[in-house]
Amino acid sequence: MIKHLINGRQVESASTIANLNPANNEVICQIAAGGEAEVAQAVAAAKEAFPKWAGLPASQRAKLLRKVGDLINQHVDEIAKLESLDTGQSYWRTKKMLVPRAADNFYFFADTCCHVDGETYPTNDHLNYTLYQPVGVVGLISPWNVPFMTATWKTAPCLAFGNTAVLKMSELSPLSADRLGQLILEAGIPAGVFNIVHGYGSAVGEALVKHPDVRGVSFTGSTATGNRIIQSGGLKKYSMELGGKSPNIIFDDCDFERAVDAAIVAVYGNNGESCTNGTRILVQDGLYDRFVAALAERTRKVVVGDPLDEATNVGPMITRDHWKKVTSYIELGISEGARVVAGGLGTPEGLAPHLKNGNFVRPTVLADVDNSWRVAQEEIFGPVACVIRFKDEAEALKIANATSYGLASYVWTENGARAIRMAEGIEAGLVFVNSQNVRDLRQPFGGIKGSGTGREGGHYSYEAFLEVKNVCVSK
Ligand code: NAD
Repeated sequence: MIKHLINGRQVESASTIANLNPANNEVICQIAAGGEAEVAQAVAAAKEAFPKWAGLPASQRAKLLRKVGDLINQHVDEIAKLESLDTGQSYWRTKKMLVPRAADNFYFFADTCCHVDGETYPTNDHLNYTLYQPVGVVGLISPWNVPFMTATWKTAPCLAFGNTAVLKMSELSPLSADRLGQLILEAGIPAGVFNIVHGYGSAVGEALVKHPDVRGVSFTGSTATGNRIIQSGGLKKYSMELGGKSPNIIFDDCDFERAVDAAIVAVYGNNGESCTNGTRILVQDGLYDRFVAALAERTRKVVVGDPLDEATNVGPMITRDHWKKVTSYIELGISEGARVVAGGLGTPEGLAPHLKNGNFVRPTVLADVDNSWRVAQEEIFGPVACVIRFKDEAEALKIANATSYGLASYVWTENGARAIRMAEGIEAGLVFVNSQNVRDLRQPFGGIKGSGTGREGGHYSYEAFLEVKNVCVSK
């Protein structure tokens, strides 16, 4: 049973949710399903813990956060296994990249919090100076797709800057965050500073964002839920990291092999269940047929299978419902007029017998897509690429921006001036030029339009987790 963590103690609820393994749909465990009462207890604990935690010198908080990073690094294998079991994502990738990165989140923000300073604005008569102060109790809400990394990406800066937290994980993937709660206590962070309440979004999530003592909300999830949260929570401090339908723009003059390699990663990475994936692939006329053929050939080699197997590239979709959603988009694409050049409906070939009840889909390339179609406009959040043809730079930009989203974007060209023009013109929070999605923790991460508001990363995380106060002193 996965229990809540409230004021340093494990707490149960009367109701529970069955947590299923996406690879076979067998029950892994039960999760406590909290509600208003559990949220109220957790917020009260966080509120009580706040003054003492915020009052510690940053260097002391940093020391405790580094200890959390060390403990994560000592349990990489265990955490990666839990995450893979819970989400169906590659154990190997999680182990090599995502769990170490989660530890880095703690090391990085331990350093960052020791360098928070302010500005001064002197005038003839006055001295203005700024103070950065913690927000108070912050609600952290995470989706299911990269739960451990996301939980630590929020928790580390939140606690580093002196806030206390109530974390709500997705009801579909609570296991690794449960472990995080234990490690945070083991590191010596006082009870009440970090709390977790599990359960449904409509119960725990709503109660958390509506709670008057929750002064800020850092949310990662879908655009629909993000909008709902702002409506329910009213005036608070929000950071909203939402959905995406990112363009991957391939010009005739690109480095072909690198662009194909990167497109494969940008569509199928993380089972296709990633907000920044470049699933709208825009390809220029002169290269279109060759690119589609190469993409199709490489897609057929993408290995679908057991997420614990090192050879697996794409594991199962998180739930049967999500499997139905992804499958229905493949059907929709076909009915809208797309040409299926790889994958399609049906069970992936060569699936081992123990996976026959899992939520597996075939990595799929839909070619000759029109950007106005629903498959090109809506977030599928699975291993499905839509390939769209364009003539010239102006048309590429027009298509890239004809979306309600604005999270990531990718441009492949050997023409430097064009790359700079495209980077300026694309409506997105992140532009990668001749590059896959790589993250430096100092970068501002976030989107515009339907992909969110606010940025997190480096000093940009001040926006989410600190309030700035101006002090004006008369001379
Ligand atoms: P979701 O919006 O359904 O749920 C996200 C979280 O919000 C869950 O913990 C859920 O229980 C909770 N929730 C649901 N309803 C709520 C409510 N009314 N009030 C408060 N909380 C509520 O998203 P999901 O399906 O878990 O995740 C996939 C989505 O997340 C995709 O759209 C993806 O693009 C997005 N995402 C964005 C980023 C980013 O950094 N921009 C990163 C990862 C995922």
